[in-house]
Amino acid sequence: MNKSPHTLIIGAGIGGLTAGALLLKAGHRVTVLEAHVYPGGSAGTFYHKKYRFDAGATLAGGFSPGGPHARVAEALELTWPIHPVDPAWVVHLPDGRTVTQWTNPQQWQAERQAAFPGTEPFWQKLEMLAELAWDISSRPFPWPPESLHDIYTLARAIRPSTLRALPYLLRTIGSLAPNDDPMFRAFLDAQLLISAQTTSQQANALYGSAALDLPRRGVNHVRGGIGALADTLVNWIRQNGGEVLFRQQVTQIEMKNGRAAAIHTNKGLYLKADNILANLTPWALRDLLGENAPSQLAREVRQREATWGAFTLYLGVDAAKLPQTGPDHHQIIVDGERPLGEGNSVFVSLSDPEDASRAPAGHRAMTLSTHTEIAPWWQLRHGDKGAYHARRDDYTQRLLNAAEIALSGLRSAIQLTLPGTPVTFEFYTRRPSGMVGGFPQKSLLQARGPATGIENVWLVGDSIFPGQSTAGVTLGAMRVADLVQRVRWLERPFRLWQPNPSQPNTA
Ligand SMILES: Cc1cc2nc3c(=O)[nH]c(=O)nc-3n(C[C@H](O)[C@H](O)[C@H](O)COP(=O)(O)OP(=O)(O)OC[C@H]3O[C@@H](n4cnc5c(N)ncnc54)[C@H](O)[C@@H]3O)c2cc1C
Repeated sequence: MNKSPHTLIIGAGIGGLTAGALLLKAGHRVTVLEAHVYPGGSAGTFYHKKYRFDAGATLAGGFSPGGPHARVAEALELTWPIHPVDPAWVVHLPDGRTVTQWTNPQQWQAERQAAFPGTEPFWQKLEMLAELAWDISSRPFPWPPESLHDIYTLARAIRPSTLRALPYLLRTIGSLAPNDDPMFRAFLDAQLLISAQTTSQQANALYGSAALDLPRRGVNHVRGGIGALADTLVNWIRQNGGEVLFRQQVTQIEMKNGRAAAIHTNKGLYLKADNILANLTPWALRDLLGENAPSQLAREVRQREATWGAFTLYLGVDAAKLPQTGPDHHQIIVDGERPLGEGNSVFVSLSDPEDASRAPAGHRAMTLSTHTEIAPWWQLRHGDKGAYHARRDDYTQRLLNAAEIALSGLRSAIQLTLPGTPVTFEFYTRRPSGMVGGFPQKSLLQARGPATGIENVWLVGDSIFPGQSTAGVTLGAMRVADLVQRVRWLERPFRLWQPNPSQPNTA
């Protein structure tokens, strides 16, 4: 009989699959249970009428040397199906100007100096902070610390240069940035909203510096769509003796003597476990534990404010009717006076024209997305279906209007339109209420770690620090994989402080 620990992973998102693969490599028996018929969750790619649409994520970062995905590839000896794109994306400002996010450092410096004269000292400081943040994240850095071993690991990760970050620990990007140009603020806010889930007045300076530095670190197209990253991990797990089971929605975690002992699925599968990794939000984990949820977790989900949802539009388009040159990713800010999100800031991604698997010949698959508050969607869905559909149509037009700014003639090119609301996201990703993107990164002192209050259950995915993005959840997964291998009495989780769960998602 195989005596290796059996680790069950609930959810085949990038976080769950990455942690699963690393644990398999470390000698665990690994079973991943996925509710859906394909992996990837918010970074999945779905097939519809000969198109492959990216469901949520479209920008693939973190693959340059030292980046999280590159480190996983090295550890697992796998190759990602990617190739770089430059420019990363183009930002369309409300005054009609565009700012191109070049990956090439010299081009980016020239671009920002031309677009925002006088802001160079800010960018220099930002790049210094980003270097520090990337350097810290290149070593095991278990933040927030939840055990004595975490504190020991953090202490070992600190270098003399790390101390330069100290004055900025509690600062926000807004406190560092010049304040006299509304277009510059709109630019920063839009970048931070998609990467830190909050805007410059609230985004932590260290976190925000790394987020704003993302284009410079390189962005890639993924062959077959971003879901091919998850497919790569599924194949690796299966080829190396692990299991990934689709159409198996975990419905309950069974407890015995204060530890998780087994799971039940909607297909009647019952599996015993030594460890469980929940690639879930805290709300979803609480639901699976029911009355066995530790009081700390139950309190957390009672007190936390809802996070953002997404409204998305998937378009199949005739490539001949679109502008024939230009980048594949655009971010459009429609009105600098109104809050971002809700169709006022829209991210637009076109599939790689060279990738024949994404669309029928001569066509391209597009994903458009905007941040949206979840509550109004659910109120209408439960109270007035007609009004829900009218809101969906209104948001569809808002996104198309915004996208037309970047891609004139877009409407005439559309052959297929599919909208996605938080209701859709809940159905396809099983994330309660369709809350996506993790928690806003406002304060490092409020960061959430992987502990759940049950010693053999951990969270993995974008609810734990450093939060959203395939690169972010990969860093979190590396931490959790390490943690699961090291559980000893000395490392039993304890909280150094309670995260303050009230983090309003105002932007
Ligand atoms: C609109 C949008 C745009 C984004 N753009 C980008 C981008 O451009 N670049 C980027 O890097 N990131 C982007 N992100 C963020 C990124 O997609 C996510 O942060 C990341 O993919 C989350 O990964 P995760 O590991 O938390 O898992 P999730 O994506 O949440 O996946 C969890 C998986 O678990 C499964 N599951 C849930 N409950 C159960 C259960 N009970 N039983 C079995 N299975 C279950 C789900 O079906 C799902 O497959 C975007 C997100 C959205 C929504």
